Amino acid sequence: NKQVIFKNFIDRAPQETDLELKVSDIGPRAPSGSGAFLVKNLYLSCDPYMRGRMRDFHGSYIPPFVPGQVVEGFGVSKVVHSDDPNFKPGDLVSGLTGWEEYSLIKKTERLRKIQLDDIPLSYHVGLLGMPGFTAYAGFYEVCSPSRGEHVFVSAASGAVGQLVGQLAKLHGCYVVGSAGSNQKVDLLKNKLGFDEAFNYKEEQDLNAALKRYFPQGIDIYFDNVGAEMLDAALLNMKIHGRIAVCGMVSQHSLSDPKGIHNLFNLVMMRIRMQGFLQSDYLHLYPRFLEHVIGYYRQGKIVYVEDVSEGLASAPAALAGLFSGKNVGKQVICVAHE
Ligand code: NDP
Repeated sequence: NKQVIFKNFIDRAPQETDLELKVSDIGPRAPSGSGAFLVKNLYLSCDPYMRGRMRDFHGSYIPPFVPGQVVEGFGVSKVVHSDDPNFKPGDLVSGLTGWEEYSLIKKTERLRKIQLDDIPLSYHVGLLGMPGFTAYAGFYEVCSPSRGEHVFVSAASGAVGQLVGQLAKLHGCYVVGSAGSNQKVDLLKNKLGFDEAFNYKEEQDLNAALKRYFPQGIDIYFDNVGAEMLDAALLNMKIHGRIAVCGMVSQHSLSDPKGIHNLFNLVMMRIRMQGFLQSDYLHLYPRFLEHVIGYYRQGKIVYVEDVSEGLASAPAALAGLFSGKNVGKQVICVAHE
């Protein structure tokens, strides 16, 4: 059983060398009477929150990884052997699993059975998984959008951002995205239906860039990055604008918060800026599935993935999130069923 092992705690963006590949033995069956089951992992998800689990910090909403142990993350897997009557061999499941070829799942309640056969399996960790749900809950619940409003999304071509933009368009909003390469900008404008997009790495002055795309100001900023982009957005918000603070992927460590200067604009412009965790909104999950699956089946939304092949590609795929290497939702294909 090949595994990806977390080596040791870091206080910077993850690098490929922070993880290593090892081989270990795993029995062919779940121990009888354990209520556990054994799965073959098919797809694994790379998510920015995993950087938080690589820090020696215990005050978060999720505990750190254990040095020397296999990395844990969301995945899509196939049941191989089960001691739980609710799951049988051949069932496809999604939820928390290990970054390894086979995993023994002890807390079976953390997995959902997959029963949709017209949706690509990997979408269960993307469009229909945690990132897709984050986009849905963050946009509708935190941003309180209205038709015709002007929406700005950062890290817009990523797992969360691409869906936020498409939902905002379906809601009748004007949507602009920022991303870190011209390829991503092209994707946003020509595949994902954003009205406009720009490469923030080519802008000398983010404030001027936002003024160019939002001469009347921003109603909603869906913030995936924090730091300088948040600061520039604060200067361009309309009165009673809303900022959904989804993530801070540009902040490399807690000791390195890049300066925010424009916070007082929260007061001047009566902006609502709200942090949120998708897990606060789990009661909306059935509604999310109904809406997003419906849009997908009607061809109203698309979902761009960046699939890296094989478990050995996992360390580089995770590190790539923090240099913007991924184009779309980053997943690792461990096995094709
Ligand atoms: P993405 O698929 O968007 O991948 C990360 C992207 O972040 C990269 O491709 C890169 O895009 C961008 N990025 C990386 N480093 C920087 C940097 N220094 N400055 C600016 N941009 C950078 O990830 P997700 O869509 O999965 O996640 C997006 C955000 O949402 C993250 O902040 C994540 O933590 C957050 N999140 C929050 C949740 C919640 O419950 N609140 C749940 C899920 C995600 P580019 O090339 O465009 O710079």
